[in-house]
Amino acid sequence: MKYDTKILHGAADRDPYTGALSIPIYPASTYHQKNIDEAPGYVYSRAGNPTRRALEETLAMLEGGARAYAFASGVAAITAALTAVLSAGDHIVATRDIYGGSYRLLTDYLDRFGIEHTFADTSDPREVEHAIRPNTRVLFLESPSNPLLKIIDFEAMAAIARARGCITILDNTFLTPYFFRPLDFGIDMSVHSATKFLGGHSDLLAGAVITKSRELGEQVYRVQATTGGVLSPENSWLLLRGIKTLRARMTLQAEGAMRIARWLADQRWATSVYYPGLPEHPGHDILKRQATGFGAVVSFTTDSVARAHAIMKHVQYWTVAVSLGGVESILSYPSRMSHAALPVETRESLGITDTLIRLSVGLEDADDLIEDLARAAEAR
Ligand SMILES: *Cc1c(COP(=O)(O)O)cnc(C)c1O
Repeated sequence: MKYDTKILHGAADRDPYTGALSIPIYPASTYHQKNIDEAPGYVYSRAGNPTRRALEETLAMLEGGARAYAFASGVAAITAALTAVLSAGDHIVATRDIYGGSYRLLTDYLDRFGIEHTFADTSDPREVEHAIRPNTRVLFLESPSNPLLKIIDFEAMAAIARARGCITILDNTFLTPYFFRPLDFGIDMSVHSATKFLGGHSDLLAGAVITKSRELGEQVYRVQATTGGVLSPENSWLLLRGIKTLRARMTLQAEGAMRIARWLADQRWATSVYYPGLPEHPGHDILKRQATGFGAVVSFTTDSVARAHAIMKHVQYWTVAVSLGGVESILSYPSRMSHAALPVETRESLGITDTLIRLSVGLEDADDLIEDLARAAEAR
């Protein structure tokens, strides 16, 4: 079965009881136990729910993992993946321009439990080698990174992790399993904010952890059942529904992103354009080798702060908002929105300046999106 068919029929495509083509929502919290000497399939919905199970099987299949678990949000999934393998005294090496919520998790939460961290430019394997300490247990990676879309060489990263005895975890939110399957490249676990492209319609919060091995899966499952940040049956159903159109959305949204990135690269007021699909992007060749697409997020800088503000103020078809991955195109201003939590010096040193704008390209006609940006950029 080819991947595009697998998305629809590779796992949990029908209700086993009725044949229904849409897995039903099982709101039950508890389940009848016919015989107290025999463990039933389902006991209590924190530990397992049929709708969530169908979603988890689908997620595992999409990324070729042994196990997958669905959580109430992306950060709940990331927290579970990290705490499944880390203990007090352990150290994490993490991508420097990481998602703002992950930054807060490392710097303002896990550190209180004695888990240390070092940020590194993980697009540079030497910097990663240098950051690893004897107590480093996890390489926590994000690629393309947010918002500057730096690309990691996964084969190089997995080799470092193997040599130094670290577990690799990748936040694969931006590319989704449709374009990149990290477990095939030696990554141990992937995490997702399924709120973004996997859900695809800006109408739910969800997270996922997918593990390469059953053993790591069991560890994540214990955290899920213990801390209880599970995805509801209703949102599990909605996410299953979103995933059915993953191919159509990712293909068209990436196509739109490519056109818009190319157009931006020709505008004199766009001083830098960050999109790994552009051949001049430093991560282009790696991604071309390791992934099947470049995603639908594009960032760029403008020639002045006033121009950036004009764009934010005057666009009509783009929605100015945080988040990304929906069918409607979103334009965001990282320095005041997604990355506002970072200290100013950190932000500036990362290149998240007041002229940086991030785009998440949706399903509108790319000509309209381009025209809208062109008009807004010249507005006063
Ligand atoms: C949004 C996002 C998260 C957090 O996910 P939530 O669903 O908002 O909790 C994590 N990583 C990346 C890359 C994201 O874009």
